[in-house]
Order: sequence, then C-alpha cells, then structure tokens
Amino acid sequence: MKNKKDLKNFSLSELEVFLVANGFSKYRAVQVYGWAFKDVEKFEDMKNLPPNLIKFLSENFYINRFKVLKKQTSKDGTIKFLFSLDDENTIECVLMKYAYGYSICISTQVGCRMNCKFCASTTGGLVRNLTSGEMIEEVMAVSRETGKTISNIVLMGIGEPFDNYKEVMKFVHGINSPYGFNIGMRHITISTSGLVPKIYEFADEKTQCNLAVSLHSAIDSVRSQLMPINKKYNIESLIKACKYYCSKTNRRISFEYALINGVNDKVSDAEALSSLIKNMLCYVNLIPLNYVAGKGLSKSKDSSIDLFKNILRKNKIPMTVRRELGQDIDGACGQLRIKEKL
Ligand code: SAH
Repeated sequence: MKNKKDLKNFSLSELEVFLVANGFSKYRAVQVYGWAFKDVEKFEDMKNLPPNLIKFLSENFYINRFKVLKKQTSKDGTIKFLFSLDDENTIECVLMKYAYGYSICISTQVGCRMNCKFCASTTGGLVRNLTSGEMIEEVMAVSRETGKTISNIVLMGIGEPFDNYKEVMKFVHGINSPYGFNIGMRHITISTSGLVPKIYEFADEKTQCNLAVSLHSAIDSVRSQLMPINKKYNIESLIKACKYYCSKTNRRISFEYALINGVNDKVSDAEALSSLIKNMLCYVNLIPLNYVAGKGLSKSKDSSIDLFKNILRKNKIPMTVRRELGQDIDGACGQLRIKEKL
C-alpha cells in the first residue's frame, strides 16, 4: 500500500491529469472521482469502468478505510468515534443529530499545536496534518458505520483547520462537488483559533462556506492566557480580519465563546465582548466549557451564564447558547484520543 496513492485524496482535476497521462480518456476521471465518494470496498465494484482501467487503478491506488477503535453513543443520540489511520495514528469524529438532520464534526490534524489552555486536543502537540482524502474518509466512515446521511459538516474536531489550509480547502471543494458529496457550502463550517493571514486568504476565496472564530475573550491579557495564538495575532488584528471577511463575503461570522468559571464570564467580560463586536455582521455562540481533566478550569455557574447572556441581549448582540451534546461521552473533542493514549 505504501507506494500506492489514496484514491480519495485526488481532486477531479488531479485525476484527469493522471488518467490522461496514462492513456485514458478524460471523462473517465469523472466516473472514477464519483466512485471514490460511493464507498466501494474494491476497484472491481466500480461497475461502469472497463477492465483495463480497473487494473490500472488497483495497481496505482488504494481505497483507504479507517478502523473503528471505539464507538460511544450518548443518551442524546450523539455518537463519537475513535478511528485508527493507516499509520496507526488516531483521530475523533462526532455525529450529532439536529432538527434539520445529521451534522458531523471532523478532525483536520492529528493533534494540534495551538496549545489552547482549555482544549483536550493539544495534549501531545501536533503529530501531522490530515490529508483531504482522510477528511473525506472521516465523513464516509461515520456514514458507513451509522447508516446516516450527513447534511452538515463542521471542522471543529481535533486540529486547527487553517494550520492545514491547503488540504482543508481541497476537502471542502470535494465535499461540495456535484460529483463528490454535493453538500452545499452553506452547510459547511470552518472554525479557527484566529490565524489572521489565513482569514484574509479565506475571505478572498469568497466561498459561501461558514466561518467560526474561537474568541473566548475580548480582552487581550485574558485571551493570550487562554490562547497563545493571541500573542502573535492580537484581538485588534483578528477583528480587523473578521471585518474584512464579512465585507468581502457578506456572510455572518460566528464567534465561539466558551464560558469558563471566573476567567472570562464576568459582567466586565460581557461588556467588553459587546463593545468589541457591536455593529458587526456576526453572532456569538456561547458554550459552557466542557470539562477536561488536568486543565484546572471549570464551566461557569448557571447564574453567571444567565447574567452573561442578559448583558449581550441588552447590548443587542445576537447569540445562542450551544446545546451541550454528548456530555456523558466526553463531549470535548480530543478526550477519547488522550484516554486511548494518543
Ligand atoms: N482549532 C479550531 C477548531 C477546533 S476546536 C478552533 O480553535 O476553532 C472547536 C471549538 O471548540 C473551538 O471554538 C474551541 O475553542 C472549542 N473548545 C475546545 N475545547 C473546548 C472545551 N473544553 N470546552 C468548550 N469548547 C472547547
């Protein structure tokens, strides 16, 4: 398998080039690309291809299928998977049920180097980037294991998507392709801890894909303590990039804000957040912190959450409080991987 290529990792244009260079007609690429998304186990199952192409594909490609190491089902229907990759690294995916259908939260890297103080995914640092083919297999594996059709994708699992920008964008385009999963850009959300130059790059691509930014504090000293990336790209530069994104795309940005007891949940924090983002095309997603062992942080008290919400409401900042899904199965992504020793 080592010298063969992962079929799911080829874009349509890459397949066209490769097949044409090897004497096949260009239109065969559309067929092969389509098969890559149909979750067949072997090349012989690609029914409309001639035998010489099937032989060529099996000599040059392999079909990557993850092994399920662990599957946990929550009382609320959320299902969490720990998958083993080709090289024995492990990643997590979560399937969540919403009124509008099934949403999957996928990982973009093995580990993460952002080192956010509340996050389970950073333990062990960054091991490697995932390929777009592996991200596609995350969606396929969850679909295969559960029999569910996935209508929404969020890139909020292990990893920093914008630290793996090229592969992430290739994945997003594959998901969106009519020959791929044909999932609309508006049903895909990328979440970033705030890699400012990549926010500009993403804005310039003008996709209809949603952008979420993990803010967690509107005060530089607090944010730098929680998220070391803030020392490189501070709040002012981050908000400037977010405004650029909104003006370029005319899309609403969402700000993720995990409420942490005594750290970022005071009245002054809510007021600082309100004045930072007032008049922006945005909304705030308040998330009661998911407990992660060993971090010394806990979620805000219900009374603080209510107070925080009321201040945002008074200041006319649109917001939602995220449902706490999968609490009984270690809601916060990255926890399963740590427990199973990375
Ligand atoms: N690296 C990206 C995407 C992965 S994290 C990012 O930072 O946005 C997805 C979201 O979960 C982010 O908003 C992140 O800050 C948040 N998160 C991480 N650990 C959490 C925890 N223990 N409780 C609540 N939210 C958490």
